Amino acid sequence: MHKRMILLNPGPVTLSARVRNALSAGDWCHRESEFADLTREINSRLVGVYADMRDDFESVMMTGSGTSAVEAMLASFAPAEGSTLVLANGIYGERMAQILRAQRKPHELLQQSWTAALPLDEVARLLDRQPEISHIATVQHETTTGRLNDIDGVGALCRERKLMLLLDGVSSFGAERVDAGGWNLQALAGTANKCLHGVPGLSFVIAHRDAWSRPPANTGSVYLNLFGYHSAQHGSGYSPFTQAIQVAFALREALQEHDEAGGWQSRRALYRQRAAQTHTQLSELNVETLLDVDAYGSVLRSYRLPVGITYQSLHDALKQQGFIIYAGQGELAQRIFRLAYMGDIQPADLEALSAALRSALAPATTTNSR
Ligand SMILES: *Cc1c(COP(=O)(O)O)cnc(C)c1O
Repeated sequence: MHKRMILLNPGPVTLSARVRNALSAGDWCHRESEFADLTREINSRLVGVYADMRDDFESVMMTGSGTSAVEAMLASFAPAEGSTLVLANGIYGERMAQILRAQRKPHELLQQSWTAALPLDEVARLLDRQPEISHIATVQHETTTGRLNDIDGVGALCRERKLMLLLDGVSSFGAERVDAGGWNLQALAGTANKCLHGVPGLSFVIAHRDAWSRPPANTGSVYLNLFGYHSAQHGSGYSPFTQAIQVAFALREALQEHDEAGGWQSRRALYRQRAAQTHTQLSELNVETLLDVDAYGSVLRSYRLPVGITYQSLHDALKQQGFIIYAGQGELAQRIFRLAYMGDIQPADLEALSAALRSALAPATTTNSR
């Protein structure tokens, strides 16, 4: 038997027994009607996660990690003429610009410091100067720091100026609010293995019907051309390429579990409660957050490493106790650690986490305190 590990990294997540068991539902061919039915069910459950997307949006699922969905979304929907404005305040926003660069599509990158909010006034001024911009691409929950970006603000700009929003919702879909109409949302990319608590291997893009009805002449990609997936999955139900069958069994189970547990609102409340409990413990140990506490979404918090504690030593001490934490990226690698609250985490696990944090961090707090 494997040792039960609690994953506090931002995906993949600790699986529930129910989702893990679904992996062994059977050996299926992806070109049989059963898999077509499963594909339709998953796509329909995905657009059902947000009630107001159900009527006007359609999903396609694809085999690949979250980045493949973001890349496919940009290949399929970012315009070859006009321009896409990318708003970045972390790795994932910057990655969207990197993808557009690789695709040689016209874009503009407004790059903020990783600890700053999106500069909406500056965005408005830039849009005044550059009328060729037709799309905005950004990240809802910037996993680099845990900031929940102000998509209401970005979306209001999109609506006022009739711009299309392309959203990386990979670490927020299923646990944060989405106001598709209010934001002029054209498409959103997500993945099975973050807030939906599925197994890694499948991701998806949900787009407005109008967007699906206007395929560009050339997406510049074969595998990442979402229009191929869309006509296949919403026609025969099949997919153009082999899908991760067992991962799809697990995703259906995870979506059922998500729904039965009360949908995105309940998941958000659950994460917030987990985050608050751990936060209380860390505050008592004088560990500080990287951002202002109100800047965080429900999914993840970033904490400054206390003086005298390296990431590696903290990681290793917690791993000994069955918890996997996550390092900072880039310039934050030696300065912070991150705790994500997704997955099948039980109250007893959180108690054990508090104890493990106390024993790993207490020596440092004694040295720090006067
Ligand atoms: C996890 C994540 C991704 C995709 O990462 P993969 O490793 O490709 O699954 C993209 N955007 C955000 C915001 C993420 O948190």
